[in-house]
Parts: sequence; structure tokens; C-alpha cells
Amino acid sequence: MNSLNQDFTGYSPTWCPGCGNWGIGSAIKQALVQLDFSPDQIVAVFGIGCSGNMNDFLNAYGFHALHGRAIPLAIGIKLANHKLPVIVIVGDGDCYGEGGNHLIHAARGNHDITVIVHNNRVYGLTTGQTSPTSAKGFKSKSTPLGLLEASINPLTLVLTQGATFVAQGYAGDVNHLTQIIKAAISHRGFSLVNIIQPCVSFNKINTYQYYQERIYNLDENYITDDLNKALIKASEINQEKFPLGIIYQKQSPTFTEDLIQLKEKTLIEKERFSNTDLLIKEFI
Ligand code: SF4
Repeated sequence: MNSLNQDFTGYSPTWCPGCGNWGIGSAIKQALVQLDFSPDQIVAVFGIGCSGNMNDFLNAYGFHALHGRAIPLAIGIKLANHKLPVIVIVGDGDCYGEGGNHLIHAARGNHDITVIVHNNRVYGLTTGQTSPTSAKGFKSKSTPLGLLEASINPLTLVLTQGATFVAQGYAGDVNHLTQIIKAAISHRGFSLVNIIQPCVSFNKINTYQYYQERIYNLDENYITDDLNKALIKASEINQEKFPLGIIYQKQSPTFTEDLIQLKEKTLIEKERFSNTDLLIKEFI
């Protein structure tokens, strides 16, 4: 156990009873405890949405970012102190919609951050508009006659942009999800965990029962370092089949490992960046 014996519990969550966020919040906290972190040893950056409200429910250093901007903030923190574990906790609307461009560039840069996405396929906080992962034809307040666009496949999206760790978990299986999140945080480089999560209040299609009939755990003999096989596996969600587990993982130098300016020290260990008087003088 970590020295402070903390379980990362913050304020009591205000999520709707039965929401998948409860399972995800529990899995994140369990993963951090099992990795032996204390709350002062990690930073969590949150997006906007029901998932982002976890900013108050997780006892750790946290930033509640602008909508869609959690990833660049996390990358900035990582550049300042690349020894610090940085996790990003966002929803599908925030990360695959407003922040979709940042996701692509974080993956191609192999920035060493862990992006955990609560994917409920709807904008829950604003009471049920269609999101980038809603299925074509999905009827919502914003698409009463049915969604005309195809849904984004976040797994194939980041795989084709160079992501070095891609996984999928389910909010209804906390133990399995905990193991996936632990592996993602332990991975050196960019990691994405797409978590299937029912929104019991505003998505009456993608329910627990819906997912129970369509999820399955990846076989223990599944090989995780074959990109072509990973793309085939990730494509299954286009047919509404949801493989759970680590779909792809490979080791590759991270952005900060390749940055020669950070070979010896972190930025915050360099006097130019930690001594504000010196820094200000450069602009006077
Ligand atoms: Fe969960 Fe949906 Fe309620 Fe938000 S609106 S807390 S996603 S059930």
C-alpha cells in the first residue's frame, strides 16, 4: 500500500443512480491504489461533461479543462515534468468531438499520457444530444428524425495515427477495467482506454443489456503487437461487437524521450523555468 494509505476518495459523486460512471470511477481509484500511487504523485486532467465532474470526486491533483482541451493541457504538464504520471479523464463528446484534433496529435507524438474515455455515445450533461459515437439513425433531442452521420471509431482512429497502446473496457466489469487502466498507466507512451458506458438517463438504446449481448473478452492468446490484427479487431465495433482488453501495444520512444532538451533534467528542474525572476528578466 502507498505510504499515505489513500484511496483517492473525494466528494460524493452526483451521477445518476445506475450510471456507468460509477464503475469507471471505482476502477480508476482501484487502479491508482493498486499501482501504489498516493494522491500527490499523479495529475488528472478532466474534460467537460458528466465524466469531468469526477474532478471533485477523485482526491488527487486535478485540472478541470475547457471543453475539448484536456489533452493539450496534459501534454503541457508532461513537458514541464515528464517524470509525473498524467492521466486524462474525458467523455466521448469532449474527446472525440471538440477535442478530436488534439487526440490525433497526442497519438502521433506518442506523448506519454493515459487518455481514459467514458464513451456513453451521447452528451449526457446537457441532457441527451447526439455525440460523435452515436450510431447512424440514433434519435435524440438534436436529431429527432435520426442521425445522418456515421459514428466515429475511436480505436481505428488512434491506431492509424500511431498510438502505442489501445484498449477497450466496460463500465459493468470493474475488475477487468481496473486491470486495463493499470496497464495503460504503466505503458510508456500514448495510451487510450475507450470505455463502453451506459447513460441510463438519456441513452435508452445502448443499455447494460445491449452491451451484455455484444461484449466479449479478448482471448488470452490474442497477440497485442500486430497492428493489422488490431485494426481488424478494432473494426468490429462498426458492426456493434465490442472486444474488451488490450487491443494493441508496442514500445516506441516517447515525445519527451526524444526531446534532447530533457535528457538530463525535467523543465521544472532547470533554473530558467523554476526561477521566475530570471524568466521575467528575459522579457524586460
Ligand atoms: Fe450518467 Fe447519463 Fe446521468 Fe450523466 S446523465 S450521470 S452520463 S446517467
